Order: sequence, then structure tokens, then C-alpha cells
Amino acid sequence: MSAPVVIAILMGLLGLIVGSFIAAVTVRLPRDEDIVFEPSHCMSCQAPLKPWHLVPVVSWLAQRGRCATCGAAVSPRYVLIECGAGAIGVWAGLFGAEAGWVTIGATAVLGWQLLLIALIDAENFWLPDELTLPLIGTGLVATALMARAWPVDQMIGAVAGFGTLWALAALYRLIRRREGLGGGDPILFAGAGAWVGWMGLPSVLLWACAAGISVVLTLLITRRTVSGSDRLPFGTFLAIGIWLTWLYGPLGG
Ligand SMILES: [Zn+2]
Repeated sequence: MSAPVVIAILMGLLGLIVGSFIAAVTVRLPRDEDIVFEPSHCMSCQAPLKPWHLVPVVSWLAQRGRCATCGAAVSPRYVLIECGAGAIGVWAGLFGAEAGWVTIGATAVLGWQLLLIALIDAENFWLPDELTLPLIGTGLVATALMARAWPVDQMIGAVAGFGTLWALAALYRLIRRREGLGGGDPILFAGAGAWVGWMGLPSVLLWACAAGISVVLTLLITRRTVSGSDRLPFGTFLAIGIWLTWLYGPLGG
């Protein structure tokens, strides 16, 4: 096997482990439960999980998706999130194969953060500052390490990203007299700027709108109605836009 393939597989395995942590956070953060110190337990019988039950994917398959103590079905969402994070790891390994470890690590860290943010917003319509603020920090550090220089475009991007969506939300409030964007969206868009730079921000918005329109069209086809009060997780669409702009660069660039 060639080195890039080995690295991609290793990153995928690391992704499975990160994914089981991401899955736990998506359950615990909205309930305000302790994320690190509370031992994992079965959702049905509360029996604490043994260490080998925490091995991603394998333990779920070995127990045929059931709790070892009470036999209750364990939701496949854990396995799906683990596989999603594993896929991001493989993707990052292949994407950064020529650029080297810093790019591979940065891409994986971005992808895993975006997966967590996208899941939390899709399920709870909530963009916690605990998740969006670190995206700004990791973006500036990662791009500085990659460029071995001050990330000037990314610092401008963080400020411009926050300002743009903050102004847009204020304008919407003024015209429609109700909240259109969540309070977390400007901070998430600042995180976008910190990763892809100010020149990537229009692409992030375009990808996000394309993702949003696809969801609305799917709803129209399957449910035949979409009302103006239907909420859409804009943060999830932004996360998709940040990921695609990071991988493929600014549109037209
Ligand atoms: Zn159980």
C-alpha cells in the first residue's frame, strides 16, 4: 500500500474514535449534561457501558445494535456519526496527501468541528458559542501553521464574516420585525472567515444557499408544502459551505 492510502486509513480510524466523542456531545450538550466526566450509560436501563462497549462501530455490530445488559435497541445514530467522522478523516488524509501533515490535521480538525456544529444545529436549531468560538481560534492557528505567516486574510475574514451576518440579521429585524437568523450565525460565519479567508466568504454563502434550496425543494417534493415559518438550520448549511470552500477554494478563483 502506498503511504497516502495508509495515512488515509489511519486518519479514518482516528475519525471513528473522534466520532464516538462527537456523538456523545450531540446527546449531552443539548441536555446540559457533563461531557467528559459522566460515564457513558445505556439510554434504556442506565447500565454503565464497559470499556469494550465504547469501541466505535465494532461493538455495535458485535452486539447487533442492542444493549448488552437489557437488550434494548441502540439507535444507529451513534454508528452513523462515527462513520461520518471516519469518512472525514479519510477525506482529510487524501486531501492533504501532497501538502503534508499540517494540512491533513487542519482539514480533519475542521471537518470534525463542522460535523458537530452541523448536527447540533440540525437537531436543536442551536449554535452554542462553546462550539462556534473555538472554530475561529482553530482556523487562525491552522492557517498560520500552514502558511508559516500571520493569517492576515483570515483575520480580516473573521471580522468581515461576523460583521456581514450581524448586519444582515439587524436589517432583517428592522424589516420583518422578527428574528430571522439565530444569534450564533454571525459567530459561525466569523469562523468561516478564519478558515477560508475573506475571499472565501461569498462562496461559503453560495454553497449554504444551494444546500438550503436543495432541502426546501426536497421538502416541497415530499411534503408538497413549505410555509414561511418553517425553520431551517442555517448553521448546518453554513457548515457545508465552509467545508466545500475549504476543499475546493473560492468559486471562480
Ligand atoms: Zn440497557
